[in-house]
Amino acid sequence: MCVVGLGGSGLAALSELVRRGVPAVGIDETGVAAGAAGSNGGFLLAGLAAFHHEAVGRFGRSRALACYRATVAALTEMATETPAAVRRTGSLRIAVDAAELDDCDRQADAMISDGLAVERYSGPEGDGLLVPDDASLQPVERCRELAQRCLEAGARLFGAAQVLEISPGRVRCGSGGVECRSVLVCVDGQLEQLLPSLEGVVRSARLQMLATEPLGRIVAERPVYRRYGYDYYQQLPTGELLLGGARDLGGEGEWTTKAHPGPVVQSVLERLAEQLGGPARVSHRWAGVVGFTASGLPVVREVDDGVFAAGGYCGTGNLIGRIAGRALVELALDGSSEMAELFDAPEAR
Ligand SMILES: Cc1cc2nc3c(=O)[nH]c(=O)nc-3n(C[C@H](O)[C@H](O)[C@H](O)COP(=O)(O)OP(=O)(O)OC[C@H]3O[C@@H](n4cnc5c(N)ncnc54)[C@H](O)[C@@H]3O)c2cc1C
Repeated sequence: MCVVGLGGSGLAALSELVRRGVPAVGIDETGVAAGAAGSNGGFLLAGLAAFHHEAVGRFGRSRALACYRATVAALTEMATETPAAVRRTGSLRIAVDAAELDDCDRQADAMISDGLAVERYSGPEGDGLLVPDDASLQPVERCRELAQRCLEAGARLFGAAQVLEISPGRVRCGSGGVECRSVLVCVDGQLEQLLPSLEGVVRSARLQMLATEPLGRIVAERPVYRRYGYDYYQQLPTGELLLGGARDLGGEGEWTTKAHPGPVVQSVLERLAEQLGGPARVSHRWAGVVGFTASGLPVVREVDDGVFAAGGYCGTGNLIGRIAGRALVELALDGSSEMAELFDAPEAR
């Protein structure tokens, strides 16, 4: 079996393959956690990309609830697999105006009536919701740990190997290729470039972040999602503020596969950092590329004979990517996957 992409999803697939004793090769154009896994905000938020009440409206209560429960279970498993990379902090959704506070109320009502953990919150960050099951992730640390374990279990991993073409039973790289029974493509951003049959299904966009030097005081004890999730931040235990978002304010230019920061979004993020933490020097700026789908559901499916694809997590792939990577293994080896059916059922697309 050949896994393309050594981010969180690809390493979840490889971990499952080695657990089953299946000979596996993993390849990446750069290396472990070189894509969005190495440039993300570190939020582990249960549920789909849409808030629970919206997900209920779009996909039906039973699918939205089953997806939510599956992500809560996956989060607990991730915390057990790589405890040093996961902090069980909970997360906040903070409203920026009265209309968003009403939306928080609708979310809380839907979650409470489905028995999901949520509390109304008022505190220094503002007013909104506290979701106690959510967590903070150090994604690079997790990926490195998983990669190390896969190597020790006999998987062969190759970096600096850009995949140029995928066809049934064959992966062609610049420097050679892999012949295999199945190919599991675990590439979120640029998936539609690697697999042209997914053009029109997945669309890549750039997400940007910055980090400040340590603030000298705590402004966020847990990850904060605000402005309907368009802006997000968390503070490291060492004081640095990590802040991302403003994609909607960057214009059409954010629909790009160029993973470098741009001035419009960065200046919005700088102003927000100052508003939240006071004057502080920006120490790092970065961007990464992720895949969006029109449906809001990820792609977890066979796209050609023995070629399986996962991605299009709509900006929230840390948790769903783990589920999707493992689901591809089930599809490839068992011929069906409850999780692929749940997250990417044809009738829900
Ligand atoms: C700034 C930012 C903030 C984010 N914040 C969050 C967050 O807080 N919470 C959350 O859940 N999600 C977040 N995301 C989204 C999340 O990072 C991704 O959804 C997730 O990392 C996807 O995992 P993946 O393994 O599928 O893809 P990636 O981590 O992108 O890994 C894909 C790998 O494939 C490789 N690759 C690509 N093309 C090729 C090719 N042609 N040949 C060989 N290899 C190739 C890349 O080098 C990369 O290593 C954020 C993303 C960004 C960019």
